[in-house]
Amino acid sequence: MKRTNKQCLNCGEEFLPKTVTSVYCSHVCSKKAYKQKMKRLKIEEELKALTDKIPENRAFISVPEAGMLFGIANKSLYRLVYQGKIPSINLGTRLIRIDRRVMEEMFSPSRSLPQAETAPKKKLYSLEKEDCYSIGEIAQRFQISEGSVYSHIRKYSIPTRQIGKHVYAPKSEIDNLYNGNDFI
Ligand SMILES: [Zn+2]
Repeated sequence: MKRTNKQCLNCGEEFLPKTVTSVYCSHVCSKKAYKQKMKRLKIEEELKALTDKIPENRAFISVPEAGMLFGIANKSLYRLVYQGKIPSINLGTRLIRIDRRVMEEMFSPSRSLPQAETAPKKKLYSLEKEDCYSIGEIAQRFQISEGSVYSHIRKYSIPTRQIGKHVYAPKSEIDNLYNGNDFI
């Protein structure tokens, strides 16, 4: 079988794959990608450790807690609270409490799952650098922590590509994810 050149998932350079499953041009690139993946998992783990500390049976949660649990920027949450779109009780400055069940009803990711299952359409993504945002750019643009970005990317199976030190995701998918949700 004739093998054709592939684009390295890490550095983006073209290379002739040694096997059909090769996705990196070199040992160095594969190692770098592995390191990045581990870093990503660590960020996700740290976020999980923080959210695990919030007792599940506590009905009222603070804005930062809600932000962590539901992956929404605190700024966006405060705005929604002040606009009255999220009902809250105010125990004083910085002591706003939100009913956790309300958050679950409004933002539970499980709501979007049936839709995803009934529409298993394969989409074409452009993973060219100019069509992508880096994770840092996404975090900044949509005011979300990088940990949340990673967990959303994983939750919604958004394709990523690593170029050098940075992980990139298609602008179209990211814009769709965060702009499609009017709470961001
Ligand atoms: Zn490479």
